[in-house]
Amino acid sequence: MRFQFSSSRFLGNQFRSLTNNAQSLAQDPYWQKVPQWENITREDFLSYRWQLANTVSNTEKLSKFLSAALPQTVFPSSDPRLEHIKSKDDFVADALGGLSTAPMAIRLTPHILSVIDWSRPLDDPIRRQFIPLKSAFVPDHPRLTLDSLHEKADSAVPGLVHRYPDKALFLATSICPVYCRFCTRSYAVGGNTDTVSKTPQKPSRKRWEAVFNHIEHNAAIQDIVVSGGDAYYLQPEDIKEIGARLLSIPHIRRFRFATKGLVVAPSRTCDPNDTWTSALIDVTNEGRRLGKHVCLHTHFNHPNEITWVTREATNDLFKKGLVVRNQSVLLKGVNDDVETMGRLIRELADMNIQPYYVYQCDLVRGIEDLRTPLRTILDIEQRLRGTIAGFMMPSFVVDLPGGGGKRLAATYEMYNPQTGVSTFRAPGLMGEKAGKVYEYYDPFPTNGVAAVGMEESESFNSWKAHVGQVAAN
Ligand code: SF4
Repeated sequence: MRFQFSSSRFLGNQFRSLTNNAQSLAQDPYWQKVPQWENITREDFLSYRWQLANTVSNTEKLSKFLSAALPQTVFPSSDPRLEHIKSKDDFVADALGGLSTAPMAIRLTPHILSVIDWSRPLDDPIRRQFIPLKSAFVPDHPRLTLDSLHEKADSAVPGLVHRYPDKALFLATSICPVYCRFCTRSYAVGGNTDTVSKTPQKPSRKRWEAVFNHIEHNAAIQDIVVSGGDAYYLQPEDIKEIGARLLSIPHIRRFRFATKGLVVAPSRTCDPNDTWTSALIDVTNEGRRLGKHVCLHTHFNHPNEITWVTREATNDLFKKGLVVRNQSVLLKGVNDDVETMGRLIRELADMNIQPYYVYQCDLVRGIEDLRTPLRTILDIEQRLRGTIAGFMMPSFVVDLPGGGGKRLAATYEMYNPQTGVSTFRAPGLMGEKAGKVYEYYDPFPTNGVAAVGMEESESFNSWKAHVGQVAAN
């Protein structure tokens, strides 16, 4: 396998160009709004080493960070469940309480911490995605399971989900640069929490060998998603190794590396001391030489995640010929309105990132406050279509509980907004999955009041009993 390696001198020029451009355009040192980083220079902040060293990765660091970043008095929330949180101490106590029941551990990069409005943290759309609050907790839907997409059941070997005939998902690692509250892979990703013992997918060569072996012996597989966890936590040598191995398999025609890194630590792509991006570019160039498509998938959920650093980084990737696509998750209080979703899609398009999917939020433990009913995604798609060029319009999809795979949200067979149950079929899947009916369940109303018709539903009654139990505890 032939690879051409970028020189560090070239990367150094890119990095200097990023910092020089920044200076000439008087771009905002947005991280300096965080009190503890008010003296951090542009060069330090852009360095991936600094981002790693200052990542908040446990409750002790979170508590320390919050104590320094928050004002003494917290701006009131529009959510009545949070109205008693008035001071910094109230907020810190509620956040630590939320973490004690969350399925995901905490990990937050300085970039993502810098785009949270700490003067109004309760309703901030970025805070909502990453830092749980105990008082916002809504009991789980009774039909929810930890691995709701049945990824473990659909794994041909540990860490290779083979659900579609021609595509497989390779979970190369179970670590990410950030941990999202709503992670669908909360059964595996990140460290153990008080409520979930994980099934980790360590980046071991022995496990990877079994994965490659399955792919090599299944000629129908043409397309691989290399994910995790997150490809940002694979070493540059891992990116090259995985890339070379996949490119060497004749029936593999395309693959993508999936990472949220571009969202949470964008300056890494231009850091002269870090070779992750040059490793990826080398793999994509080699793929192009062989007539195979290699690209990057990322995961922006809100326009506030995008800063001038993100724009410079994505522009740099575009110039290097990398195709980047985005997969968003629809989240309540984050991006569940037409204005925010429309703005996000347009900003992605302006950065030459293809808005690929908007997902209905999966049934994930401990995040009912973030889920929206199916009617929200249907409404947003209907109202956005026609306002954005068709090739930049993402597909609005539901990843079906039970391993039915992704289906366009609008292709439901039945949807009763009163009971919150929708049904779908997935005839393109293999074996008995092709004939099954899959159900998605809307979240129940957070005030516990049933909509007309919902009182009759068995799952609502079971949820109400569960709510009663939680309240009693
Ligand atoms: S980056 Fe992706 S895999 Fe990692 S926690 Fe977030 S959603 Fe899960």
